[in-house]
Amino acid sequence: MIYNFSAGPAMLPASVLKKAQKELLDWQGLGISVMEISHRDPIYIRMAEEAEQDLRDLLAIPDNYSVLFMHGGGRAHFSAVPQNIAAADATVDYLNSGVWSDIAINEAKKYVATVNEVARVAETPQGKAIPPVNEWKLSKNAAYLHYCPNETVDGIALHEIPNVNVPIVADMSSVILAEPIDVSKFGVIYAGAQKNIGPSGLSVAIIRNDLLETQQHRVCTVMNYKVQAEQGSMYNTPNTFAWYLAAEVFKWLKAEGGVEAMADLNQAKARLLYECVDNSSFYRNTIAPQNRSRMNIPFQLADCQLDNEFLAKAKAEGLLALKGHRFVGGMRASLYNAMPLAGAQALVDFMARFEKAHK
Ligand SMILES: *Cc1c(COP(=O)(O)O)cnc(C)c1O
Repeated sequence: MIYNFSAGPAMLPASVLKKAQKELLDWQGLGISVMEISHRDPIYIRMAEEAEQDLRDLLAIPDNYSVLFMHGGGRAHFSAVPQNIAAADATVDYLNSGVWSDIAINEAKKYVATVNEVARVAETPQGKAIPPVNEWKLSKNAAYLHYCPNETVDGIALHEIPNVNVPIVADMSSVILAEPIDVSKFGVIYAGAQKNIGPSGLSVAIIRNDLLETQQHRVCTVMNYKVQAEQGSMYNTPNTFAWYLAAEVFKWLKAEGGVEAMADLNQAKARLLYECVDNSSFYRNTIAPQNRSRMNIPFQLADCQLDNEFLAKAKAEGLLALKGHRFVGGMRASLYNAMPLAGAQALVDFMARFEKAHK
């Protein structure tokens, strides 16, 4: 059995991949692949509309939000958001909670006059932590507040939605569909697909309709939220195969019990791993408990000389892609929706055996 702990592109449900394989050469009895038909074909459009409806059902997306299937992954929205939602002379607020926030901040600086960092991660006696929202230095007149609820590289999460008076923009690339969210609290939610949705390159954006009316005149048309909303995300040719695969992942999620069931599963997997790390002096995680990610769990070996042996032995047991991001070092286990509980269990079993062998 192979368990793939890659941070992204990441594990997809095996049943989805098998279905895609089965219908690769003959989709819906057409005798050709889904990759080979027009995105304007009624059969394709029906699939695309079903995908949108399934995503709306899964996240209980209110009617006054548009759902877009776009290009460029998560990062494309780092520039699309300031261009679409803020004027060039605007002030925008950003929480800096890790690597991805930091990149988003630097990208926003190209497009708006003032990018205000409201807070950044700090060392505390309990570990690295995001300062409480009431200590954030919010601007008086920000066009929006941007934050990343789950920092994929750092393994840092904010588990509450900040209570502010401006539209909230959230980069949910590595946490979308992993737990229920109250979409009505957000102005824009965006996500690259390759963690919890499907193949890389595709992105999903969920946008409150009044925000479509803001600054579209200065945006590259492919990334123009208003144009894409008006044209059913088909202003230009979408990534038709990725959209199809995302549609299959949404169907799988519904059959598995939706995001509520995923949240329970994800909690259980994360608990296994954190318990294993916390109950040992051989492994450690340096994030304060209230900001620990349930999706991406970095951990270090007390003796980093053992890193390569750990990775090689894990791989030999079918536990793949555990090497931490080069910015953080050590190990990282990503436990997205497609990772079964048995995968997390296999990892902690291996970790216990490895620890015992090196004590
Ligand atoms: C992976 C990731 C991105 C980047 O996604 P791309 O599709 O590579 O552009 C952005 N933000 C977060 C939080 C991510 O996890």
